[in-house]
Amino acid sequence: MNIRAINSILLFLILAFSASLKAEWYSDSAGIMGTNIYVEVWAETPVQGQLALKAVMAEMERINQLMSPYIETSELSLINASAGKQAMVISDEMFELLDKSIKISDLTKGAFDITFASVGYLYNYKENKRPDEATIASLLDAVNYKHIVLKKENKTVAFSNEKVKIDLGGIAKGHAVDNSISLLERMGILHGLVTAGGDTRLIGDRRGKPWIVGIRDPRNKEKQAVVMPLQNSAMSTSGDYERYFEEDGKRYHHILSPKTGKSTYDVQSVSIIGPSSTFNDALSTAVFVMGLREGLGMINRIDGYDAVVMDNQRKMHYSNGLQQ
Ligand code: ADP
Ligand code: MG
Repeated sequence: MNIRAINSILLFLILAFSASLKAEWYSDSAGIMGTNIYVEVWAETPVQGQLALKAVMAEMERINQLMSPYIETSELSLINASAGKQAMVISDEMFELLDKSIKISDLTKGAFDITFASVGYLYNYKENKRPDEATIASLLDAVNYKHIVLKKENKTVAFSNEKVKIDLGGIAKGHAVDNSISLLERMGILHGLVTAGGDTRLIGDRRGKPWIVGIRDPRNKEKQAVVMPLQNSAMSTSGDYERYFEEDGKRYHHILSPKTGKSTYDVQSVSIIGPSSTFNDALSTAVFVMGLREGLGMINRIDGYDAVVMDNQRKMHYSNGLQQ
């Protein structure tokens, strides 16, 4: 081989090597858990970037298979099929999420309650279907998180009422985002964002500037109502626009009061900002149900958490921590 050939091979190797070390932003999106998943990371190499994106999508799909009410073999579906009849051993992950859900029910005086599904499963927002008054009335006593009996010693769940059904739609996406962020942190990612529908969590900043996380205008999906500059934090938004149908001018949407088994109308959108996506997710649903005064009052008493609420007159309200 002559010198020129060796030189050009060397040059090729140097170029290939430096390309493989290129620090860059890497991003990906996918439809999982009935919602849009978006991941963005700053990675030192393409391999690190691609592995990070893959790890998050795989985690989202894993949680979907575990917690979807639409998959017959999901652990959630198996619980709904059996726990009303006999106690059932469940995974550690499910046990902990049910335990957290119950604690948040206590904290929110029952506004967040995964047994809303005892009535909630009869709503089908895609097909404009809702239960009639008599059906709601006959199922309302099954809506009560106190029916969920968890036994720590043997990791079991049982329902003390046969009609109880649970649904994790108000907390599972937050849990999936928190898990994804832990995975990314373990892979050495120092700047990143994970979004699942209305639930977003950030690692670090956007390299010298904050991340900008938007709160959608509830009545115009092309518009942002507010944008929040955030870093090393998380925000979840619950709105009456995610899943709904209209009938005789009334909006039947997916956030239900456990007291009435019907949609609530005090606010149009609630965003919670705090360190944990799991808590943000559940608290945004809870504040939506509690309404402006009670909901904002509660958030003002919880350390480290803030809220942005749009009421039913489209007026914005902020928790004390967000007011300079
Ligand atoms: P999304 O990102 O789907 O809009 P939200 O955080 O706004 O999620 O939660 C809405 C979902 O929470 C509903 O689709 C339903 O699965 C569930 N849900 C509705 N009402 C309640 C409630 N009172 N307590 C707990 N979960 C609820
Ligand atoms: Mg929520």
